[in-house]
Amino acid sequence: MQWEHLTSRQFAQAVQDTRVCVITMGVIERHGEHLPLGTDFMIAHKIACLAAEREDAVVFPPFYFGQIYEARCFPGTVTIKPTLLLELIQGVLDEIGRNGFHKIVVYNGHGGNTHLLRFLAQCSLWEKRPYSLYLPTQSLTPERQKKWQEMRETATGGHACETETSISLGNHPGLVHMAQVPEEPAPPMGRLQHLPPTFAGISWYSDYPHHYAGDARSATADKGRALVQWQVDTLAEYIAAVKADQAVPALESEFFERAQGIGSL
Ligand SMILES: [Zn+2]
Repeated sequence: MQWEHLTSRQFAQAVQDTRVCVITMGVIERHGEHLPLGTDFMIAHKIACLAAEREDAVVFPPFYFGQIYEARCFPGTVTIKPTLLLELIQGVLDEIGRNGFHKIVVYNGHGGNTHLLRFLAQCSLWEKRPYSLYLPTQSLTPERQKKWQEMRETATGGHACETETSISLGNHPGLVHMAQVPEEPAPPMGRLQHLPPTFAGISWYSDYPHHYAGDARSATADKGRALVQWQVDTLAEYIAAVKADQAVPALESEFFERAQGIGSL
């Protein structure tokens, strides 16, 4: 169920019936020369909506503010001041919780959000809230990942690559410009290779200054449809596991009781 499609009365019922909300996290950024700026949030939201048909859940409207500072040098990128971004996402999660969801699945559609979202999850131990956060850390189970590895024709990727372009061809072919796919693949340039293994804010840009990583020439809609189905299956199973889980809320309660009791012995 899509949050924005429900009436207020239907929504209240859906909260009672599902108890789980899925929020997808994407960004608006350049995707090579051939994919639309909204690729990440459009893909993640579509997968979540399909998964929520399989395993009942309410899906929050597409959310497209995230960590994408490394693409500020390209037209069309939308970024938010770091401290405001944290407060914004936290405020949205709190609002989902205020509406009655005790469990929120944060489904990430953008690699650059990984550290941000894990930090937000860690922040949930700062103060007790009436909901628990669940971040799936794999979009495919190992078996499905193996199937995709067998199907794909390129060994590397990461951005606007065979994977993302195939999904886009499957989902919204009218927005994909295959004629614009670069003639040369984009392997990492390794411009920080002189350093010992390093993470710097400029790391991504140092490897991929054109915001294109991999080789999209072998992308097809058939591959994309297969991949979407595997991702939908994986997320639907994850939502079912979250519904059944009692450990995270129980451990959070135990943790906060202990945290509040510090100094009282
Ligand atoms: Zn992307």
